[in-house]
Amino acid sequence: MRKITIAKGDGIGPEIMDATLKVLKAAGAPLEYEEIKIGKEVYLDGNSSGISTESWDTIRRNKIFLKAPITTPQGGGYKSLNVTTRKSLNLFANVRPVKSYYPYVDTKHHNMDVVIVRENEEDLYAGIEHRQTDEVEQCLKLITRPGCEKICKYAFEYARVNGRKKVTCFSKDNIMKQTDGLFRKVFNEVAAEYPDIESDHMIIDIASAKLANYPEDFDVIVTANLYGDIISDIAAEIAGSVGLCGSSNIGEQCSMFEAIHGSAPDIAGKKIANPSGLLNGAVLMLRHLGEQEVANKIENAWLKTLEDKIHTADIYKEGSSVKKVNTQEFADAVIERLGQKPSELNPVENVSSETIQFLKYERKTHKKELKGVDVFIHDSRTNAVEFGDELKKASTGDLELILVTNRGVKVWPEGFSETFCTDHWRCRFVSKDEKTISNQEVIELLKSVGEHGFDAIKTENLYYFDGERGFSLGQGQ
Ligand code: NAD
Repeated sequence: MRKITIAKGDGIGPEIMDATLKVLKAAGAPLEYEEIKIGKEVYLDGNSSGISTESWDTIRRNKIFLKAPITTPQGGGYKSLNVTTRKSLNLFANVRPVKSYYPYVDTKHHNMDVVIVRENEEDLYAGIEHRQTDEVEQCLKLITRPGCEKICKYAFEYARVNGRKKVTCFSKDNIMKQTDGLFRKVFNEVAAEYPDIESDHMIIDIASAKLANYPEDFDVIVTANLYGDIISDIAAEIAGSVGLCGSSNIGEQCSMFEAIHGSAPDIAGKKIANPSGLLNGAVLMLRHLGEQEVANKIENAWLKTLEDKIHTADIYKEGSSVKKVNTQEFADAVIERLGQKPSELNPVENVSSETIQFLKYERKTHKKELKGVDVFIHDSRTNAVEFGDELKKASTGDLELILVTNRGVKVWPEGFSETFCTDHWRCRFVSKDEKTISNQEVIELLKSVGEHGFDAIKTENLYYFDGERGFSLGQGQ
């Protein structure tokens, strides 16, 4: 018996968890359960993270966590427990298989079978945000080499182990050449290690449009956190199955499994919710544990239930469904069919028990040379020429002002009079003759900028790594 942690969550959570556990028990899943309380009750008890220290200990001890949806109370101060759990436990890969079950679940896309592998820990979800001036707020987009290597490797390993043919990377590297550029570069490096799997790259905007219209063209998709969050909901919605999809959050030590939907407060307590999302989350968990036989048994019984047109209210259709059932009745219908296989929908068979190998990341260091600094200044004048000419006087012997941009667009020494300027100026000072400078010279410059009456709100050092520029040029530079 394998002990796992469960949390019944909020809203419809307890109803769908009870139904899921009933199916797991009837199928003979070799599991024992240790229950923890998380979510609304814990938040409102004054714990702004929605989880107690003891519950963290339980999750970390058992390593496998089956979680029903929770309600994050509205208003300030409450942190998303999902985001905290993913990041605290290093659950770096969010895997969401999305499939259509036409004609038993209504969708325009009859042959869709996509797996979205979303990076789960970084990107804009690092949540590092600051207000810097009267007018400007900033959110840092952090993309790291270990993060990219781990998720790209996971996507190709997933494809290989699950007999998938192609991995497509979605990014916006035509605009974000440093951050998304790194994601794509690492994707290419990892793809070269898997010559048996086709790989390609698409720009996220057209890729999302194509995914929404031609989902059958995609197999495995790997992408950064925010893009993955958005496209996985689009994919689930067009498959007609937001209430049906499960998701895994995979880490090196711990993993968490859940439904993709929320706590559905509008139908909580009515006992009509569809338990399929959490049940499919539990199937993913069993597969992760190598329990392919029980997982197949449950998944085939579930497909047969759909095929027999026994449907909960969310997918029930007058005329095509045969019976409308509530949560428990649906679970009972799945249990009755344990051991049976669907005849129209593809039964699940021969799923590989091979475990997915994680990347062993090795840190490399590079030759780093400081060649200048971007000083960000809060200044409410609107005339860029006046601003730049005045700031140039703050240049020191070592660092000279060469460029000012506003919202990334060059406005000094020459810009367009049409460009709107906020009170947030990025001012690029570089060393004379590309000489390598020290942090002390940056400090001297900042002192001079202050003495000339400017309000420096932050700096970014301009480095070369192994002789390659490590920063973007200004638009128009
Ligand atoms: P939701 O997914 O809870 O509900 C959206 C709609 O889908 C509702 O009409 C609901 O009735 C329906 N629905 C969802 N699951 C269903 C099911 N299993 N069967 C039948 N119908 C179902 O999204 P929401 O209303 O935006 O969010 C409600 C709460 O859930 C919020 O507090 C949100 O923060 C939280 N949430 C939690 C998670 C999670 O724990 N993983 C994920 C998303 C949202």
